[in-house]
Amino acid sequence: MRDETIPTHCPYCALQCGMNLRGVPRPDTADGTAVEVVERPDFPVNRGALCGKGRTSTSLLSSRVRLTGPLIRSHATGRLEPATWEEALRTIADGLRRTRDVHGADAVGVFGGGGLTNEKAYTLGKFARVVLGTSQIDYNGRFCMSSAAAAHNKAFGLDRGLPFPLEDIPRTGCVILVGSNIAETMPPALRYLTELKENGGKLIVVDPRRTRTAEQADLHLAPRPGTDLALALGLLHEVVAEGRTDEDFIAARTSGWAEARAAAMAHWPELVERITGVGVPQLREAVRLFCDAPSAMVLTARGPEQHSKGTDTVSAWINLCLATGRAGRPLSGYGCLTGQGNGQGGREHGQKADQLPGYRKLDDPAARAHVAGVWGVPPESLPGPGRSAYELLDALGGDVKSLLLMGSNPVVSAPRAAHIEGRLKSLDFLAVADVVLSETAALADVVLPVTQWAEETGTTTNLEGRVLLRRKALDAPEGVRSDLEVLSALAALLGHEKGFPADPEEVFQELRRASAGGPADYSGITYRRIAEEDGVFWPCPELDAEDEPAAHPGTPRLFLDRFATPDGLARFVAVGHRPAAEEPDADYPVLLTTGRVVAQYQSGAQTRRIDELNAAAPGPFVELHPQLAERLGVAEGEPLAVVSRRGRAVGPARITTGIRPDTVFMPFHWPGEGRVNTVTNPALDPTSRMPEFKVCAVRLEPERVSGG
Ligand code: SF4
Repeated sequence: MRDETIPTHCPYCALQCGMNLRGVPRPDTADGTAVEVVERPDFPVNRGALCGKGRTSTSLLSSRVRLTGPLIRSHATGRLEPATWEEALRTIADGLRRTRDVHGADAVGVFGGGGLTNEKAYTLGKFARVVLGTSQIDYNGRFCMSSAAAAHNKAFGLDRGLPFPLEDIPRTGCVILVGSNIAETMPPALRYLTELKENGGKLIVVDPRRTRTAEQADLHLAPRPGTDLALALGLLHEVVAEGRTDEDFIAARTSGWAEARAAAMAHWPELVERITGVGVPQLREAVRLFCDAPSAMVLTARGPEQHSKGTDTVSAWINLCLATGRAGRPLSGYGCLTGQGNGQGGREHGQKADQLPGYRKLDDPAARAHVAGVWGVPPESLPGPGRSAYELLDALGGDVKSLLLMGSNPVVSAPRAAHIEGRLKSLDFLAVADVVLSETAALADVVLPVTQWAEETGTTTNLEGRVLLRRKALDAPEGVRSDLEVLSALAALLGHEKGFPADPEEVFQELRRASAGGPADYSGITYRRIAEEDGVFWPCPELDAEDEPAAHPGTPRLFLDRFATPDGLARFVAVGHRPAAEEPDADYPVLLTTGRVVAQYQSGAQTRRIDELNAAAPGPFVELHPQLAERLGVAEGEPLAVVSRRGRAVGPARITTGIRPDTVFMPFHWPGEGRVNTVTNPALDPTSRMPEFKVCAVRLEPERVSGG
């Protein structure tokens, strides 16, 4: 592609920044060329801005650390040894078939990822249910936004991360940003908040740490980790007490207010101050800023969501929006800032345990009939809902004997990770498709090297619900195949020679049909339209012919006329505060919370292999307040072990006044002794099955380096 410039999107987070790829001469590559990232200022979401991850994203394409040939574990040496594609695919097909024949279809598990394109997520779900016949499929997106998705569905009857485009944010009057450090997780989006303030709008940030995002706020509320639910209830109590509810909106557009109101009234401000540590004056100031603004939004991210009460917590924030008339109106509403690159699309098309394409429910007879019709199988042949991600991983080596894993690295990213690593090791058979030899791939019996984002075409759906097209810009190295080619070949080896095309556009055409009439309706979207329109917002139903749909404009803004519930009304959900699954005690007196840093992405499988990013963020650390550091007698940079009931993680102390004295923070991108997910708590939300990544009880042990 030496003389071409190809518009595409970043491979990492849910902002899906637009970028151009341009061919450049590079003598050390096979064809003498490589690609570099060039600004794409015309794409509206990021207007040319990229963070360091996006700017360096082509580094891994030509990296020597990527996999370029299949590997099979040798019985003789116990090591992964080079193999041919035919040997590797046949070994996987035989391994999965053997498990199914001996132990039944549900003994075969499938684990996907929120970074997989829509086409891959769709095909993986179809492969699990049609070829393997297993119900045991879920994906790492469960660890991302499932609590917000569950709360969205309860309140609005539909789950789309943001019900409005990002461009609306600077024009609203006030934003409450809960548990999102945009400045580090998606830096180009920070400008929406900067512009909000330039326009006179107010920014309230809720975060136990004074992050770079919190530094931008007009008001920073720093609740104790695990108490966002009480905070939201306290704000709603204050809204009622101050007479700031919007009674006309409540009467015309909602149901269930009486119960939700009664629940909130049990959370008076002084009680909430005791639970959260946020003072009553700050609560009142937040309500004043939020209610004085002519329009307002609440945006949440993993901070309030990754809890054993994450769904209820998001419901409480939605209740605040509904009670004040800040939903279903222009420039107002609740939204979730989805994290993973295709976290939105990945949860819509069938790799989630309970879902069929189009965000249909697997236990809905009409949905089963529709999708089975598209797939050409009897509806009764489709298995029912399976286990959630952590429960599936926890079942490995038990009744789930074999696993096919794509686009995920649970050895680093799952809670209670040492236990999950053990479960993976106890499998009869593990096959992993990945770009690099991740910590999880290193445990596999067979490893397949797959193409990267710039070497294949496919769609993703960003946090706004905007369906985007990533275009192939260059050929993959010899020896590498796409995930779709892998699934197509495995399906054929397992007796399904038809129905699993490797061509992404062919898959997308089928996805359109499968999603037609569903909540996430893509049937009016085509590759051509996406390319011409800077993406198309779903729902976008097809109005006319198969090949050239009459253009439905797509739906950038949801719920302005009615919510997606049967009666069109938004539903209040009555919720009450409850403690975290694990509270501090004498043995584990400190709270641990986890998160990300700007130069690394998720489990770090890709970004830890990029020199520039490693130089910026070389390893984990333990962030703690000076008072806590003094009590422990630990100095800046000294190794500090964070110990929970599940294990320990070690990192150098990073001392800052920007964190509560009762809390420590560790980022989760690294394996080994710095793997904080060894420590985290897998307690699950009863609705979303989200693990409690964001809070657990720990003790701190300075690791003295012995002298002399
Ligand atoms: Fe990529 Fe996200 Fe950075 Fe944009 S903000 S460049 S999508 S990692």
